Amino acid sequence: MTEMWWIRRDARLADNPALLGAQEHGPAAAVFAWTPPIDQWSGRRRAHLARVLSSLREATGGAVGIRRDRADNAVLAVAREHDSRVVWASREYSPAGIRAQEAVQRALADDGRELRFVGSPYAVAPGRVVKNDGDEYRVFTPFSRAWREHGWRAPAHAADPDYLAAVDSDVDLEAEAARGDSEDPLAEPVEAREAGVLDAWHEFVENGLGAYAAERDRPDLESTSRLSVPLAFGQIHSRTVLAATGAIRGDAARKFESEVAWREFHADVLFRHPRAQRESLTPVIPEDAWARDDESADAWAAWRDGRTGYPLVDAGMRELAATGTMHNRVRMVVASFLVKDLHVPWQRGADHFRRALLDYDHAQNQLNWQWVAGTGRDAAPYFRIFNPESQAAKFDPERRYVRRWISELDTPDYPSPIVDHATERAASLADFQRGKALR
Ligand code: FAD
Repeated sequence: MTEMWWIRRDARLADNPALLGAQEHGPAAAVFAWTPPIDQWSGRRRAHLARVLSSLREATGGAVGIRRDRADNAVLAVAREHDSRVVWASREYSPAGIRAQEAVQRALADDGRELRFVGSPYAVAPGRVVKNDGDEYRVFTPFSRAWREHGWRAPAHAADPDYLAAVDSDVDLEAEAARGDSEDPLAEPVEAREAGVLDAWHEFVENGLGAYAAERDRPDLESTSRLSVPLAFGQIHSRTVLAATGAIRGDAARKFESEVAWREFHADVLFRHPRAQRESLTPVIPEDAWARDDESADAWAAWRDGRTGYPLVDAGMRELAATGTMHNRVRMVVASFLVKDLHVPWQRGADHFRRALLDYDHAQNQLNWQWVAGTGRDAAPYFRIFNPESQAAKFDPERRYVRRWISELDTPDYPSPIVDHATERAASLADFQRGKALR
């Protein structure tokens, strides 16, 4: 009897327990549901997904099916077509992922079939790392220590790409890829093939990791792994990454693992506190401190379009618009500027990032915004406000990054600062003091 693999954020052949499970008793049928929310993604992100799925189809001789439907309908339809009693899937922990898997589970159960979970997009599944008394960790460092001690499985062997049953598709992936946003000349192509992702990762381990701890905060250097896109789409698993760094001594590998641990911490926080996707976990300033949308319309547009007159902020927002990505340090600076200099609630910034980011990941985006806003678990203290000028001087000392993205920098066409950082910083601190009195 054919068993099935429901492809989620795990479109890969290597280290894929759900696929291996489905192949245990014979060739597996595999389906990816191109659900209605995907049609709301940015063109660039949709196009990338289409390329990822195309390359998986190519690697499997066209066997995997792509169906345009809700997940419950698509999975049930293919299960019936292939007479699959058991469907294997990687478990998700975000509110939307949980809703989807519950719907699939119900649809299959009503039809006498079973959804079987194995693995997740994390080395340690959210909810697993707990204190001795079973309570959650609220602070990152002890979480990451316990996370390391908890440990993870070694990567599984790669699946056989030929051991798959042919499933019909009704999504034209080439057309979806072509519908993507027009490519900016400054945007570098993002690798969509699993083999290419693994090659790039090995190359980073060989030649990039050594300088990671010292250089990772420099947006003017290519000093980070660029794994966030393949991790978000599941072309590589964090376990695979950790197995490689675990074999390397030194600060750089430990620092890198600690960044991967942030990804796991945020997924854990969102799983335990689903309201964190919209609500501040720790409200630190009074609600009336936020600028009203109509008051902040011009400032918002200047931020969004990279015309604030603060070069590091503007370069970051232009990089985001042109490429769908932004260096982590610059993400922190632009987010802080929106929340603490322009007094716009973090949720609006997070929504903008959701529409623009290629590596969009609900837990990482919402919780990183909360970190910068000072409202999350183990967040930056609210009173620590990024100074966009000193950050630029420190992390882009030769101004190569800002020059790359702002062609009119140092000409009369470049705008003057739309706000005075010192004044807005003082206003934010006053709001914070007021908030303290209210708490
Ligand atoms: P590297 O420095 O090479 O790090 C390796 C991996 O560690 C990353 O791929 C990522 O999975 C993880 N990591 C690194 N930094 C963080 C972090 N701060 N939080 C969680 N995981 C981290 N990352 C996303 O994947 N998706 C998002 O939607 C997202 N939104 C963000 C929004 C804001 C406001 C901020 C400040 C950060 C956001 N990040 C997000 C985290 C981070 O900016 C990116 O993961 C990073 O820029 C990716 O580059 P890299 O893969 O080269 O990172």
